[in-house]
Amino acid sequence: MITENIHLLPMSSPADYAIATLGSHTALQILKGAKDEGFKTICVCTKGTKEPYESFRVADQILEVEKFSDFFSVEEELKKQNAVLIPHGSFVSYIGAKEVQKVSMMHFGTRSILAWESDRIKQREWLALAGLRQPEVLEKPEDIDRPVIVKFHGAMGGSGYFIANTPKEFYDHVRDYPMEERKYVLQEYIVGVPMYIHYFYSPLTDELEIMSFDKRYESNADSIGRIAARDQMDAHIKTSYTITGNMPLVIRESLLPQLFQMGRRVVETSRKLEGVGKRGIFGPFCLETIIDPQLNFFTFEISARIVAGTNPFVNGSPYTWLRYNEPMSTGRRIAREVKHAIEDDRLEEILG
Ligand code: AMP
Repeated sequence: MITENIHLLPMSSPADYAIATLGSHTALQILKGAKDEGFKTICVCTKGTKEPYESFRVADQILEVEKFSDFFSVEEELKKQNAVLIPHGSFVSYIGAKEVQKVSMMHFGTRSILAWESDRIKQREWLALAGLRQPEVLEKPEDIDRPVIVKFHGAMGGSGYFIANTPKEFYDHVRDYPMEERKYVLQEYIVGVPMYIHYFYSPLTDELEIMSFDKRYESNADSIGRIAARDQMDAHIKTSYTITGNMPLVIRESLLPQLFQMGRRVVETSRKLEGVGKRGIFGPFCLETIIDPQLNFFTFEISARIVAGTNPFVNGSPYTWLRYNEPMSTGRRIAREVKHAIEDDRLEEILG
């Protein structure tokens, strides 16, 4: 659905438009990709953070704000420049899910999907509707009859999560947490390897693309194995999953067909979700999975926008090289979609 006051001018070349985003998360590849597709680029930065965007020459213009929640103070300026806003993973966390609904400039992607993405219960409903296998969620600590990962609500970057095998282990461990922080979900712990699948769905051509894969580099989970278990115990190390960066991956080729099917089902079922609208999800999205030794994919989360795991692929991934034969990041793919929409006079179809 298009907001009434969206600023649409009858123009048909990328040169008449700008691409804007917030200076964080995946802004470097979004802006670089937009420049490669012939757009002017605008980066909205908080004070003291503009250096990367200047140094890497990706922003034609930088607009500074005190904090990202002041974004609305530059929105008029962005509208004047006929800018299309590209949201990214940090966009909602900085602006706030409710405030995002107030954005009145051109916004790439379906905003109404946010209600489903930002609610753990709704996410599970969506993924179940799409027929994806998910780690089981246990209702209460007494139900713990296998390893579970205890995820605290609002735990920034997964810090403080712990594993429990029995109700007793759970209660022994949770004692260390202040009462007010004890809102958690008990999720079956899947022993396997994490795999983050980056998709792009084009509503203009109805094509679903697999752009790339990554795994995360999490502190301290990814370094605990460097010391002996005895030393881990002695040092009372608590596992945390604070994300620090991302590593590129390729996947066993025989697994690709089912990944296309999983992505396609996510797109198709999104059109049936209450309040989302017929167009459903489009543009970039990511399925966050663990693959077990029997090669089952357990999806534990979906991100309904570009994820930072696409950052290793500014120059394209092995998969986008196959598809495009030219450097194609997810950021550039978004800009290309906007460009095609402009050229075909279908811009409204990719704004929401
Ligand atoms: P999350 O905060 O849900 O993104 O989880 C943080 C990290 O915990 C992930 O990157 C995974 O490495 C790990 N993780 C999350 N859920 C599970 C699960 N059900 N089984 C095994 N590992 C998980």
